[in-house]
Order: sequence, then C-alpha cells, then structure tokens
Amino acid sequence: MTTALAPLDIAPRLGRLRARFGDAGVDALLVTKLENVRYLTGFTGSAAMLLVTPEDALFVTDGRYTEQSREQLEAAGVAVRIEIGLTGAAQHASLAAVVASGTRVGLEEYSVTWAEQRGFVSVFAGADLVPAGAIVEALRRVKDAGEVDRIRRACAIADEAFQALLSRLADGTTEKQFALELEFGMRKLGASGNSFDPIIAAGPNGAKPHARPSDRVIGRNELVVCDFGCIVDGYCSDMTRTVSLGDPGSDARHLYDVVLASQQAGRALVAADVACSDIDRASRDIIADAGWAEAFSHSTGHGVGLEIHEAPRVAATGRDTLLVGDVVTVEPGVYLPGIGGVRIEDTVVVTATGSEPLTLTPKDLVL
Ligand code: ZN
Ligand code: ZN
Repeated sequence: MTTALAPLDIAPRLGRLRARFGDAGVDALLVTKLENVRYLTGFTGSAAMLLVTPEDALFVTDGRYTEQSREQLEAAGVAVRIEIGLTGAAQHASLAAVVASGTRVGLEEYSVTWAEQRGFVSVFAGADLVPAGAIVEALRRVKDAGEVDRIRRACAIADEAFQALLSRLADGTTEKQFALELEFGMRKLGASGNSFDPIIAAGPNGAKPHARPSDRVIGRNELVVCDFGCIVDGYCSDMTRTVSLGDPGSDARHLYDVVLASQQAGRALVAADVACSDIDRASRDIIADAGWAEAFSHSTGHGVGLEIHEAPRVAATGRDTLLVGDVVTVEPGVYLPGIGGVRIEDTVVVTATGSEPLTLTPKDLVL
C-alpha cells in the first residue's frame, strides 16, 4: 500500500465557504474547530484559528507552528495570511484588527464553548457575534476524489489488518490483545492510528454496542463483535464484522442472518437522492419483523470523513438526502443482554451511478 494518494483540492474551499455566508447570515466566520481549520487550509497542528471575510483570510497560530503552518498552507495553495501570535492575547489582537465595527462574525456554535464565546465578545468588541450553525461541516459532507481516496485507503488497511489477524483468534487471545494487535497491524500498513478505540466484544460483552475491550479470552463458538477503523492523512475508516470461531449455534446464526439481511437492505438503497431516513427504515423494518425492534438501539449509520461521526446522519430522524460524494456507514445491530450481539457495518461512498463499498472484508460468520 505504497502508491501515492490523489492530491487534495484544498484551495477552492474558501470560495465555497464564502458563497454560503449570505444564507448563514454572517459577514465573516471565525473557524476554531481544528478539523475545519484543516479542511480549509491543510494545517494539521493542534492550535490555530482562521478568520474568513469576503476578501481576506487570516490564520493565527503560536510559535510551535511557525514553520509547519507556512509549509502546509503553501503546499495547499490557499490564499491565507499567516500571523504568529506568541500569546492568546496577541492572536486575538490580530483577529480583531481584521473585523470592522458592526460586522456579523459567525462562530461555530456546535464546537465553541460558553467560555470561548464570552471571550470572543470582548475580543470582537463592536462586532455582532452570531451563531453560524455547522457551516463548514456542511461543506465537508461531500467528499472530493482526494478525500475518497484517503478513506478508501484507510478502509483497505483496516480490511487487510483485520483479515491477517483473524487466525489469531484460535490462540486464545483476549479482547484487549486483539484490539492492540489490530491497531499495530493498521499502523504497520500505513495508518496514523485508530479512528476510534476499537470495540472487540466477545460473547455476552457483545450485547453492549460500545463495549470496551476487556481481559476476557475470546472463546470458541461465540459471537465476537469487531468494530474498528484507522486514519490515513486525517481521514477515517469504519467497519464492523461479527465472527465466530466455530459454529455459534442455530440461535446465533439466525440472529446473524437477520442483521445481515438488514444491513444488505439498507446498503442496497444507498444512492444519490435517497432519504437517509428511508435507509434507516429499510434496515430497521427487517429487524423489527424478526421481533427485535427494541434491541436495535442506535441509528443505522453516519457520515465518515475527517471525523469518525459527521454529516449526514442515517437515522429515522435524519433529514438529509444523499448526495454524490457522501461517505456513509450502514451498521444495523441487535443486542441481547446476557447473550450477545451482532453488528455488521460497511463504509460506502455515493457515486454518480449508485454507490460503492469501501470496506471489503467478507461477511462470513463462521471462521
Ligand atoms: Zn463502526
Ligand atoms: Zn460507525
């Protein structure tokens, strides 16, 4: 897996963001969420703010990132001025100098804390601070070719690492050991790390949808829920497989077959112009018909990108309709306390002609 990734097309994103200012009711946007700063500038460091106005964009960071910010913003080709402020007060003064009195400055209302908002009121004295919704996240939703390439690579690495490790289940490994070796395997293949803490849940532990790996030894003939992913150049993958070393019995096989049918029904609907709520319903109806409506206790899926959970929501209450370039998961599950659980999840990209799965590990229950 050493072929080069397609380049990211970062420079045009600021223009697309500015085109949304009118609808958002802002004259300028202060971007403080780091994933959004990264999306708009290519900067990967841990501290920065970006103030975007119709004609200007000012990036401020601290002395730790003087060289890195210049390199990354230049490589991205973005038209952004950089100012290094050694203190928070110096950075705030740089930002305030850009904003004229009366300007409506949008804040990222879902990520700015109360304390930060109160601080910005004094920084931008004379300006009108307004909530700007999830304006950058809405842009991030539709992935371009370079972004899909990174998610595809992350999915391929997760596929390869997982399949290479499955034979180890026969060794009497614990959930924790399996999770650790999975992360190690993904890193060896080029991932920068987990996209979230892996869920490796054997036997009754599988009844907790977000179980943490324990010291339980994974036994024979029991369901093992494995939900994991990795990060490649900032982009996440997400996949769940449920496996059993040996035959888990007819009840477990029936449970698995229902969840698999549910996953395939939802997965088959993924295409442009399809309502996310319809995908959720297609998956949910099959599980409900089998009598487990209450045991499917989460939504069917979510978008994947720079964050492991992002827009759109594939849920009964999801209001979005899929667009070409959306990358979403389809991951129904059934969880039976005291017995165990089954979840099956793929990451899928919506294409002009339908959709394409990015997670390709076979869905064989019995190893
Ligand atoms: Zn997952
Ligand atoms: Zn997921």
